[in-house]
This record gives sequence, C-alpha cells and structure tokens, in this order.
Amino acid sequence: MNSTIPYKIYLSEEEMPKYWYNVKARMKTQHPPFLNPATMQPCTKADLQPVFCDECIDQELNEKDEWIEIPADIRNFYKTFRPSPLVRAYFLERMLDTPAEIYYKFEGNNTSGSHKLNSAAAQAYYAKKQGLKSVTTETGAGQWGTALAMACAFFGLNLDVFMVKVSSEQKPYRKEVIRTYGANVIPSPSNTTAAGRKILKEFPQTGGSLGCAIAEAVEKALASDSCRYVLGSVLDHVILHQSVIGLEAKTALEKYGVTPDIVIGCMGGGSNFGGLIGPYMGDRIDGKNDIRFIGVEPASCPSVTRGKFAYDFCDSAKTTPLAKMYTLGCGFMPSPNHAGGLRYHGMSPIVSQLCHDGYIRAVAIEQNKVFEAALAFAKCEGILPAPESAHAIRVAMDEALKCKAEGTKKKILFGLTGTGYFDLAAYKQYNDGAMTDYIPTEADLQKGFATIPKCSANAQFE
Ligand SMILES: *Cc1c(COP(=O)(O)O)cnc(C)c1O
Repeated sequence: MNSTIPYKIYLSEEEMPKYWYNVKARMKTQHPPFLNPATMQPCTKADLQPVFCDECIDQELNEKDEWIEIPADIRNFYKTFRPSPLVRAYFLERMLDTPAEIYYKFEGNNTSGSHKLNSAAAQAYYAKKQGLKSVTTETGAGQWGTALAMACAFFGLNLDVFMVKVSSEQKPYRKEVIRTYGANVIPSPSNTTAAGRKILKEFPQTGGSLGCAIAEAVEKALASDSCRYVLGSVLDHVILHQSVIGLEAKTALEKYGVTPDIVIGCMGGGSNFGGLIGPYMGDRIDGKNDIRFIGVEPASCPSVTRGKFAYDFCDSAKTTPLAKMYTLGCGFMPSPNHAGGLRYHGMSPIVSQLCHDGYIRAVAIEQNKVFEAALAFAKCEGILPAPESAHAIRVAMDEALKCKAEGTKKKILFGLTGTGYFDLAAYKQYNDGAMTDYIPTEADLQKGFATIPKCSANAQFE
C-alpha cells in the first residue's frame, strides 16, 4: 500500500455537509408530476397534507433550490453515526489484481444497519417540528422500521410500524430492535384498521404484504390530526436527504483530487443510488464531468431494465398517488425464491427520468452472482455486506476486471448501503447451494404490466 491515499478517508465534523443537494434544480427534464388518483390531476400541497409532513411536501415539490439547508438538530443527530467511512478498497483491488482504483462509501455503521437512517432522521425531525405526536410507517424486511424507530426515539415521537406478518415472524430479532427503541410493532394485516380487517376476513391465513401494510399505515395516519405517514424510499424528498451520502463521498475524494470515472449503486426504490450520484449528476448534466452512472437491480425484479416508463401506483393496494416511473406494475410479485432484497415494483421518479434521459445505465444481475461477490468482498474487505449492497459490489468487481483486461486505470466508486447481519437466512441458502436464479418470463411480466392503471396519462401504452 504505497499510494498516498489512505485506506479510510476521514472527514471532520466541520467538513460534514450543511446543505442537502437537490439534483432536480439541475435536471433539464423534470419528472412528470404525481397524480391524485381521485382526480388524475397533478397533486397539490393540499392533496398531500393529510398524509405527509408539510416540510417534506415542500421539499418534494421543490424543483428550484439546488441547496437546501440541513437543520442544526438533524446535523447533530447525524453526528451520532456520520460521517460514514469512505474506503479505498485496496484489498479488493489486490484480490482482483486490477489496475483500477475502487472506493466505497459504507452506510452500514449504525445500529439500523443501512443508509435509511439519513432520511428517517430528517422525516422524524420535521414531524416533531410541526407539532405532531406520532408517525406511522410500514416495513418489510425491517431496515426502514428500525431506522425510523431510532430517529423517533431521538426526536421524541411515537411510532407505529406495520410489519408484514411473515417478516415479523421470520425476523423476530429485527422486531425486537424496533421495540427496544420504543416503537410499536403491529404485524400486518391487523384488526386495528379497516384495511387490515377486510383482508383478514377474506384471507384469515395470509402472511401479509407490503401493499396491505402501507394501506394500514396510511389509514392510521389519516385517522388523527396529530399523526402522519412516512416513507423510506422512492420519493424526491427521500432522495434529497440521501444526498448526504454523495456529498460526503465527493468531499472526501476531492481531498485527494479524485473524480470517479464510474459511480455504481444498487437500486430498490432508488434512494441510496439517487443520493450517491446526485452531486456528481448535477455537474454531469452541465457537461462538467464525464462520469458513467450504473444502477444495479436484481434480475428477478428488473423494474428499469425490463419495465415500462408509465404512470403507476406506488403501492400494490393502489391507495397512493400515481408516479411516472419505470415499473413492472403495482401488482408484480417477485418470485418467493428471491432472497436478495430490492423487490420494489417501481423506481424513484427522479432516477427513472435520469435513466430515460440516458444519464444512467441500468443493469440486472442474478442473485447467485450477487452472493458470490458478497462472499469475495467479505473475505478481503472484512465487512459482511447486505445482499442489496452486494449488487453494487458485483458490478464494481466486473468493471474492475474489465479494466484489467483493457489495461485501463479507472476510478470506481460504489455505495455499500448496509450490513448483512439480518440476512443470514439468505446467506445460509447460498452456502447450502440452495439458491436459485429465477428470472421472470415475458408472460410473468405481462401479468404485472396488466396491473398498470389504464388512464389517459398512459395512453401511449394502450
Ligand atoms: C432499503 C435498502 C436498499 C434499497 O433501497 P433504496 O431506496 O433503493 O436505496 C439497499 N440497501 C440496503 C442495505 C437497504 O436497507
């Protein structure tokens, strides 16, 4: 290791971002507006106010301000787990025997284990500032529920987490972390809401679904004036909060004069990837850099690589506003064999628009290749990665191997979004040789596409 770049590049508290970066202010084409499903007209602030916090709505609709100040109380909370490490992956480079330089930004260094705490902190703070008493949300695997429980504990808010029933049974320890931070975990479907009671009556044995959990969480929030609903990905204000990842990475790399040639991230709802690339994308749009951006999704849930760019509901219960995005259809169900996370049917409207405009290339990877990369990374860099994060590792390794074949010395930055401690069932499946690569057939996709709403905004698809 004789380069002058250290293994970890540290930032001081002073160097931490004081503003979030709003990439929309630089985008040449804005994504089309969210539509109110009742009227099919663009959503106004008043439409969104019963569901979301006021400040988050303002951020959601802001296409003008490139920089939005991070309130001091959020910056103080960020200090408990940020800055996150920016690591030069010397040991991965050595293992691959590549001339490429590989860097990763590790977001798993907090108890919730992922980048989701960056937005949970902001959303809890704004709810408290608005004088609300409580918030609700849903969680599938549990990372978002844990992150929000931590943020609500810090800012003094009550939280009800509707947790998909099978997950709450399969991941009892996740549930316990959430409860330890003082939040209430309600296995969904539950008899505490009309939406839950309806499902239970029809399907008493159901293990629940994310769509049902969202419907319950929204219903609960709408029932009280001092309660709102919060969402952990997809929306523009979540991408804004996640820009702290890209800003820190950029500051750290600039200390050593490094501009990446390639930036890679995994894509579920698109929040970590949107946040990582945002500050670099602003310059890319203005022609000030020539960075290649690669978003990685699972081959079993290929929203961007095989989906349609259309208006669709953000949830399978069809309760939310419609967003123009790459989607497999809100009724698309990934195969139960898929263990690697990132199972959302759609994609952030910002990330979708940037893909559509040619600034981002999306690639889809089968899960056995993802876990192969996860194990290789764990053995040389030490960190046990979340399966989601390992999608980005896989493509970073592939790009580094291309550099080796071509004899080029590219600089590669990727987002390592979290740790895999709560995903050991998936690792067990891989270690047992029991992991399968299911790729949806055209017929499977057509079934999902049939659930995309037929409306005039989607006329081009009919
Ligand atoms: C939730 C999650 C993701 C995917 O969500 P995005 O909104 O696409 O960022 C990726 N990695 C980890 C560890 C997660 O918990």
